[in-house]
Amino acid sequence: MSRNAQPQPSPSEVAASLPPIGTALARGAMGRCPCCGQGKLFNGYLRLADECSHCHTPLGRIRADDAPPYFTILIVGHVLVPLVFLVEKAWYPPMWLHMAVWLPLFAILSAAFLRPTKGATVAWMMRLGLIGTEHGAQIPVPTARPVAPGDA
Ligand SMILES: [Zn+2]
Repeated sequence: MSRNAQPQPSPSEVAASLPPIGTALARGAMGRCPCCGQGKLFNGYLRLADECSHCHTPLGRIRADDAPPYFTILIVGHVLVPLVFLVEKAWYPPMWLHMAVWLPLFAILSAAFLRPTKGATVAWMMRLGLIGTEHGAQIPVPTARPVAPGDA
């Protein structure tokens, strides 16, 4: 994570700087910064860049965790599973042929959809103000213990 002298924008400042949700999701899906659409969102296949190279929006602290694989499985499953059933019902191919065709196709499509899905998920999270913290949490960690009833 890069350390620069500029203060990091707050989650509400980042959310306010984003374009409409459809534009932000499209930019994220194309691997571009959801805020400006110019800088790169990724530094590698799935690793987020620390910050946008164009508008310096902090990106690297956002933790999408399991959401992109979940959405990828949802999308690819809804595309391919009906085709599997259709082919089975129409031609009754042997099971080895199903495995030889569908398993690589699931793997290839999942790998192809994972990055755009992660980009769109990150854009959605930014829109919701979930930009992460230095501690890795999505919600800022409280610095003081909350006051309980009876504490003086
Ligand atoms: Zn940017």
